[in-house]
Amino acid sequence: MYKEPYHFNVERYVDPVRFNKIKDFADQLPTPTLVVDLDLIRRKYLELQGSLPMAGIYYAMKANPMNEVIELLANLGSNFDVASRYELDQLISLGISPDRISYGNTIKKQEDIRYFYNKGVRIYATDSENDLKNIARFAPGVKTFFRILTEGTGADWPLSRKFGSHPDTIYHLILQAEELGLNPWGISFHVGSQQRDIGQWDDAVARCKYLFDAVAEEGIELKMINIGGGFPANYVDPTFSVNEYAEEILRFIREDFGDNLPEIILEPGRSLVADAGIIVSEVVNISRKSKNNLYQWVYLDVGKFGGMIETIDESIKFPIWFPREGLAEEIILAGPTCDSMDILYEHYRYHMPEGVQPGDKVYIFTTGAYTQSYSSVNFNGFPPLKAVVFKG
Ligand SMILES: *Cc1c(COP(=O)(O)O)cnc(C)c1O
Repeated sequence: MYKEPYHFNVERYVDPVRFNKIKDFADQLPTPTLVVDLDLIRRKYLELQGSLPMAGIYYAMKANPMNEVIELLANLGSNFDVASRYELDQLISLGISPDRISYGNTIKKQEDIRYFYNKGVRIYATDSENDLKNIARFAPGVKTFFRILTEGTGADWPLSRKFGSHPDTIYHLILQAEELGLNPWGISFHVGSQQRDIGQWDDAVARCKYLFDAVAEEGIELKMINIGGGFPANYVDPTFSVNEYAEEILRFIREDFGDNLPEIILEPGRSLVADAGIIVSEVVNISRKSKNNLYQWVYLDVGKFGGMIETIDESIKFPIWFPREGLAEEIILAGPTCDSMDILYEHYRYHMPEGVQPGDKVYIFTTGAYTQSYSSVNFNGFPPLKAVVFKG
């Protein structure tokens, strides 16, 4: 079998000068560890803000809730989209004012709504009648936005079906909100995470416009559209830049709303933090399961339960670098736990240079989002993924 030399373009994922510094720092740490480059998050935030200067940014903190990340974004002026009272408590303990916080989860207990209201949060998302009534009862008069259903088509990590309701249902909820004494503020949607088809925003914005017009006929003036998350990070599959996303989305909004632009907010998670993370891992074992198996199994010390759950269905393809030279071979990659679900990539073939040995370091790029916060607490006794910030 003819083989090509192993090739991995590190520079596509990380600035080489920066990476040398991070590597010196990271190589002192036990593996696996997630190293988060705060300076890159700062630049990502400024880039996004620069391309949507009129928009309010509400960081979806579930993507990476490390205190240092929250503090950095808070200092840059970010607001926060929160899904649970635990996230809220964390923000409050960091001194973040409740007027910078939205309660974006449409699934909430009555006691949670009361809790958020008592803490001073005044922006709530909803998509159902029960939830709307609870908000009216336990958080009277608050700004409410209504989440419409999207398909999630084109997204590597779709958030469809579970959230949002059909525009017709939303229309009635908006009228009901007004009757219940709430302040119907606007419409939200999420086109799916790591959405690689910018056109998905076009459809969603058009639905917002339809609802703005429909409720205006009943005398209700909506003011805001929330364009969600879905902005890209730099994984194996290429995407347009965040700037190109912003330009296109603004064009869609202008086409529908003309000069009478609504307030715009967005809830980025992945696009702000993913590129800033590098998991430093180690090869635990390499095995060929029979003499005539074409592919070797390569077991890393990080897997699905240690933070790489987004490899489910091989949805997110993390860039994985083996720092050696040699001829490239195709491999099957798996994690360290005793669960056969803990296979990272079997259908999409990753490459490894021949000559890699157990004990070799492996660098997994673009792992700053949805890794540590997803890692299991104690499966097989493995602790959750350790995460540290790099401030150099
Ligand atoms: C998770 C989530 C986001 C963030 O999505 P990304 O694709 O990571 O940017 C935004 N809004 C809501 C409501 C979410 O649940």
